[in-house]
Amino acid sequence: MTMPIMLIFFIGGTVIGSFLNVCIYRLPKNESLIFPGSHCPHCNAPLKFYHNIPVLSYLFLKGKCAFCGAAVSLRYPGIELLSALLSVVLYLNFGFSPKIIFYLFLFYTLLVLSFIDMDTQFIKNKTLLFLAVGGVALNGWLHIIPWNEALTGALAGGGLLLLFALFGRWYFKKESMGMGDVKFAAVLGLLLGWKLVLVSLYAGYVFAALYFILLKLLKKQPINNYIPMGPFFSLGVFFLVLWQKELFDFYISLLT
Ligand SMILES: [Zn+2]
Repeated sequence: MTMPIMLIFFIGGTVIGSFLNVCIYRLPKNESLIFPGSHCPHCNAPLKFYHNIPVLSYLFLKGKCAFCGAAVSLRYPGIELLSALLSVVLYLNFGFSPKIIFYLFLFYTLLVLSFIDMDTQFIKNKTLLFLAVGGVALNGWLHIIPWNEALTGALAGGGLLLLFALFGRWYFKKESMGMGDVKFAAVLGLLLGWKLVLVSLYAGYVFAALYFILLKLLKKQPINNYIPMGPFFSLGVFFLVLWQKELFDFYISLLT
């Protein structure tokens, strides 16, 4: 029975991924998510529905616009596939439980937030507000974490990064970290509770450090000389939400 359901989550994931692409592309420009319909960013020709089938259209059109032949970024089908895999992995972990609704919401939003952070180096207040309000509403309905943990989580996550930001400002004599990251950590704490958010932020810094070392080894500069923390914190949250027990056991086994 699980194979057909997995397929439904996969296909559903690509369709949602196609909408997430629209969000990633349009939200930073303050454009409507609905009007006008999808069009080629190069020649502005409106796309027919069969030009807009997740992943498949990209393959049929060989990565080119059907009208003007301009190359379509590999990122579009990439994000559709990412969203599909995310949906399947969450289904495999949580099955049909209240948690899957909560975490699908969380990770779809984090995916959009991460790519916008990579593109613009900015985490928008509106996106954070959407995440916070949506998460709180879902938690009120599904009871994923107790409210006292949510509140201490927001204080712990936001507080920790605020300390880092203040320390950075004092030590480097300049803004070393955006306030967007502080607010982001507070919202993550609100949705995860203090234990999970602190470990997720820690994991995010580890991922960012590994990325930085990799760039050094390859003798490359970070894009725009800037490492956005949004994607790394999101990655940390992803690993911790899905495999916290395994990761804790592994960590303990390193210490003993
Ligand atoms: Zn075109």
